[in-house]
Amino acid sequence: MAKSAPESAAIAPEVLAKYESVIGLEVHVQLLTNSKIFCGCSTHFGDPPNTNVCPVCLGLPGTLPILNKRAVELAMRASLALNCTVQEHSRFARKNYFYPDLPKGYQISQYELPLATSGWLEIDHDGAKRRIGITRLHLEEDAAKNLHEGFSQSAAKAYIDYNRCGTPLSEIVSEPDMRTPEEAYAYLTALRQIMLYTGISDCNMEEGSLRCDANVSVRLRGAKEFGTKVEVKNLNSFRFLQKALEFEIERHIGVLESGSRIFQETRLWNQAESCTVSMRSKEKAHDYRYFPEPDLLPIHVSSAWREDVLRSLPELPEAKRARFISAYGLTPYDAELLTGTQALAGYFEATAKAGAPSKAAANWIQTELLRRLNDSGKEIEASPVSPAALAELLKLVESGQITVSIGKKVFAAMFESGRSAAEIVAAEGLAQISDTSALEQAARDVIAKNPDNVAKFKSGNEGVFKFFVGQVMRATRGQANPQAVNDILRKLLT
Ligand SMILES: [Zn+2]
Repeated sequence: MAKSAPESAAIAPEVLAKYESVIGLEVHVQLLTNSKIFCGCSTHFGDPPNTNVCPVCLGLPGTLPILNKRAVELAMRASLALNCTVQEHSRFARKNYFYPDLPKGYQISQYELPLATSGWLEIDHDGAKRRIGITRLHLEEDAAKNLHEGFSQSAAKAYIDYNRCGTPLSEIVSEPDMRTPEEAYAYLTALRQIMLYTGISDCNMEEGSLRCDANVSVRLRGAKEFGTKVEVKNLNSFRFLQKALEFEIERHIGVLESGSRIFQETRLWNQAESCTVSMRSKEKAHDYRYFPEPDLLPIHVSSAWREDVLRSLPELPEAKRARFISAYGLTPYDAELLTGTQALAGYFEATAKAGAPSKAAANWIQTELLRRLNDSGKEIEASPVSPAALAELLKLVESGQITVSIGKKVFAAMFESGRSAAEIVAAEGLAQISDTSALEQAARDVIAKNPDNVAKFKSGNEGVFKFFVGQVMRATRGQANPQAVNDILRKLLT
């Protein structure tokens, strides 16, 4: 637990242990459409402020929204990938509130009849699998962005960029099923991975494509009733989510232990101070005066459309992990790592299919390949070594034509030059030396040069044997077959 807050640092572990926390997450995901949800403006990130706007997304009088079908389809993909029921009928509602980033004075969202309900996703935390319920997934438009710095009069004025206004979002609301900050972290990780696999969002947190609010409360262990919950906003990184929850849980326990009570409110995570601060008392649904959006027809999803979307889903991370374990004999750890992204999983599978032993492929990808990609700042899609080229190298190692340590040098040369393993091995004369007469000559030379160590070995110092092996390997530039070297030295020395 975080010890950053002075008031919570005093809580003894046995007091903390009396309580259990209850966490639910509301995640906003920006859908990967080219145009906005109710107009044709571009959703491209990073364009000059207020260049991707039109009368519709600026909320000018007399304009009417037109629903972007692609946004509905992407939200359906998300719903089905999260095991939700996509409702045959859903509809939009107006969520009324006044804020400069909302030019219409209301946000078009979904309220009583959301697009999808009752799903779940599985998290894997400390080797234990747990299902976290998903209450609902709905569609809505994003607001504009208030910019408080970077302009000539920023000290006195707020600037607003309406480019983001009307970008399609899916809000995914979980059940209060998580019990620790680590589980919340695991949930967000799993959710993000599914969104990336299905191509629903780029989930870029720096660009705001994935945003997370958390509802958190605490109760005495064994209690049935939930405690009073607090909403924490502004959790724009995985680390902030975990730290904010840790802070907030200790704060709640501190308040309850002191005999006070928790107020339902919205708080903000303040990263600089490592604490949450009160923002406002929590608004209730009736504060927003929701009512059905009169300018849009209800959404009707036919079973044929739903089936089409379901069929278009790719293999999801959980299924891929299970298949990698059963089809390729990978450990759960390797399967987890290699399914981290679709590109990585695809690379592994292509390497194995090109004939590489799967366990070796898994090891080499996780060590040699990922390290070099990381060092050179390259994505796996841009790897200078293709899966087929890696498979060729691994087959040379597997068949004993080159040693593992030479294999690593060859891999480095392949990564640098893009040449094939066979080419490098031939050009640099790196093939493993298994020719016994050459190895025997090298061994005899080493023995002749080290009479002292020969004497030590003969007097029973077995440890010296390794010295001889090392010297022969060195003399052959690491290319000698280690087993052959062992056998020859054993024969010559005894
Ligand atoms: Zn527009």
